Amino acid sequence: MSLLHDSPGLRPSELPPDSALERTLREQQTLLDNAGAGIAFIRQQRVVRCNLRYAQIFGYEAPEDLCGQRSESFYPDTAAFRELGRAAYPVVSAGETFRVERIMRRRDGSMFWGRLTGSLINPKDTSEGSIWLIDDINEQKNAQVQLDAAIWEKQILLDNAMVGIVYLRNRHLTRCNRHFELMLGYAPGELEGSSSRRWLPSEAVWEDVGTRCYEPLAQGLAFEGELPLRRKDGTPVVCDVRSKAIDPSNLSLGSIWICMDITERKQAQTELIKVHAELEWLVAERTQQLSETVANLHREIDDRKLDQERIYWLAHYDPLTGLPNRTLLAERSTQAIEVARQEQTPISVIFLDLDHFKHVNDSLGHRVGDALLVQIARRLRAVVREKDTVCRLGGDEFILLLPGANAKGAARVAGKLLEASRQPYQIDHHELTMAPSMGIAVYPDDGTDFDSLSQSADVAMYRAKQGGRNTFRFFTPEMQAHSVRALQLENALRRALEREQFSLHYQPQVCIATQQVLGVEALLRWEHPELGMVSPAEFIPIAEDCGQILPIGEWVLRTALAQLKSWHTQGLTLPTMSVNLSAVQFRQPRLPELISRILADACLSPGSLELELTEGVAMDDPRMAIDTMDQLHALGVQLSIDDFGTGYSSLSQLKRFPIGKLKIDQSFVRDLDEDANDRAIVSAIIRMAQALGMQTIAEGVETRGQFDFLRDQGCDQAQGFYCGHPQAADQLQIYLQACRKAQQSGMSAGQRPNPANAFTAFLR
Ligand code: C2E
Ligand code: MG
Ligand code: MG
Repeated sequence: MSLLHDSPGLRPSELPPDSALERTLREQQTLLDNAGAGIAFIRQQRVVRCNLRYAQIFGYEAPEDLCGQRSESFYPDTAAFRELGRAAYPVVSAGETFRVERIMRRRDGSMFWGRLTGSLINPKDTSEGSIWLIDDINEQKNAQVQLDAAIWEKQILLDNAMVGIVYLRNRHLTRCNRHFELMLGYAPGELEGSSSRRWLPSEAVWEDVGTRCYEPLAQGLAFEGELPLRRKDGTPVVCDVRSKAIDPSNLSLGSIWICMDITERKQAQTELIKVHAELEWLVAERTQQLSETVANLHREIDDRKLDQERIYWLAHYDPLTGLPNRTLLAERSTQAIEVARQEQTPISVIFLDLDHFKHVNDSLGHRVGDALLVQIARRLRAVVREKDTVCRLGGDEFILLLPGANAKGAARVAGKLLEASRQPYQIDHHELTMAPSMGIAVYPDDGTDFDSLSQSADVAMYRAKQGGRNTFRFFTPEMQAHSVRALQLENALRRALEREQFSLHYQPQVCIATQQVLGVEALLRWEHPELGMVSPAEFIPIAEDCGQILPIGEWVLRTALAQLKSWHTQGLTLPTMSVNLSAVQFRQPRLPELISRILADACLSPGSLELELTEGVAMDDPRMAIDTMDQLHALGVQLSIDDFGTGYSSLSQLKRFPIGKLKIDQSFVRDLDEDANDRAIVSAIIRMAQALGMQTIAEGVETRGQFDFLRDQGCDQAQGFYCGHPQAADQLQIYLQACRKAQQSGMSAGQRPNPANAFTAFLR
């Protein structure tokens, strides 16, 4: 029997002292007053008694304040009270203790959590009341609620975190969130209890991570790093991992690991790096291409520049000698003329042509010819000043432009050029001498522009050539007229043969001793419908220059020999036909064959032909000349040297020529009557010829005095107006017949015939 049950209003102090009961009650009261829990005796739903703690829990100062208080007031509302009653009844009525935690209400209306423990005093009789213990567990409950909330929040966090969160203890998973499982491809809960080795790719990695994380975790620091993990299916996952010990001082409590799948990010990064690398490579390649393109461009520009320079060079320079060409010369001349005009200064132009250069090309070949031109160009350049221009026009023609030079200066330069040309040129094993013929024109007298100046110089050069070559001439206005005529003649000459404008005249060659006509010289005549009679002295050199001399010369040979044959057929015995052979003809290849063919065609013996050569034929290449002469001589053809005394034949050469006769030039014969010098020269030539075993014939014998002098000096023959003019074939035929008749009668009469009579009788 409990105190509460037995005497509801009885206080221990009210009991008789020292009785056992009293003592028991006192003990109980002490127990109640000092109990940590509130204790109340409830009967008929009202508080019969309670301890101090009970009162305090509900907000009363003393237990008495609660006595009679309805127990319903301790609950938030009636429904809560009834509900408790319904829950408690079956338990307590079964004699058991009912325990529950409920929200209760204090005196001031505030709610709190209480833990209730109730039991019936007599389970068989509820009316006896019940005892209720209450603990104020509000704080504990609140703490629990907060803890639950925290746990809940944590759970939400765990469940919704976009990172894997793992709790490990002794490197075994105690818990993880769903994300971690999904990340590694595991079913919910599948990893629980697993060793972390399960999601690490190898034992080595696992051990390495274990060692590395230990120190920071033990120091309370985070372990951070990128770890290679492995999914359930074995595929790799790269994670950014961060872990911390739950209690650094006690690592056995485990650690939390937060893992973020950065595989994609890694891949993206790798991809990015790759793309970057590719980009850089592309940029590098593009840069390379660009620099190559730039280099190519530069090269192309350089090439173009070079091309342009080359084109310019080719357009302005002579490729063989490197000298300026006509175009550049014209440009420079125009500039120089402009300066000369402003400053009133002279300019000289020298037109230079090499004498007989063609023979070098013909005989030694173009390679030697070219090498010679290069050396000549160098020599020309060396003679003039820096500001002068030496230009090669082409072939063997050069023009020198000498700004500031007057006639005197130009003559000095021309002299130096002649001087320089005396030195032989060495080409391979050939030693060659090459003389120039030069014409000089001076600005402004001989021309005020480049064309007129070069034309004037060209004309003057032509004159220098006519004047015996290896010399120079100044331009004179008369030359201009002449050169125009030369051009006219050249054109007309090209058609003269086919238009049969040529004819031959024949001039007798008489034996001085017997006055017999020993032969005739065929002399070419050209009658042009407009130009009239043109002297061979004028047109032969032109025909030689333009090459027409070859067909013309052949025509002369054939015509003259045909004529001789015709006279022979008519019974006129004329031993020789003399034909002039130009140097150009003489040098034509296979001349002896041509001559013998013509002789054969005319059915004449070679001895009836005499070829008159000039001294010049042997000048350039004596060896070849001698060779040709020997061949002609071997044929039986007679050879004579025409115009002897005007050329440069040396005695040493002369004696090697198979020459039968020297024709003393008429310039020595003309003044024999008056000029003692000429008389001395003529007699010297005669004696020299005699010494060499050659015959002599004097040309241009016009007077009896000349004839007599020649006879006295032992000259063999005479040719000239005194003995007979050159005449057409039919006229000469009459002359020959008359001569023969006169001679026959004179001889038979034993008289010495008077050649003048005999000849002149038939001239008129
Ligand atoms: P050449 O061979 O010395 O001919 C002699 C020239 O003297 C001829 O002039 C002739 O008419 C002239 N002549 C003759 N006797 C006298 C005289 O007593 N006094 C004067 N003053 N002159 C006289 P032509 O016919 O005008 O010929 C001039 C030159 O033309 C010739 O000089 C010769 O070198 C050349 N020639 C003439 N015909 C031919 C030819 O068929 N072929 C070649 N290659 N040259 C020819
Ligand atoms: Mg002659
Ligand atoms: Mg002559």
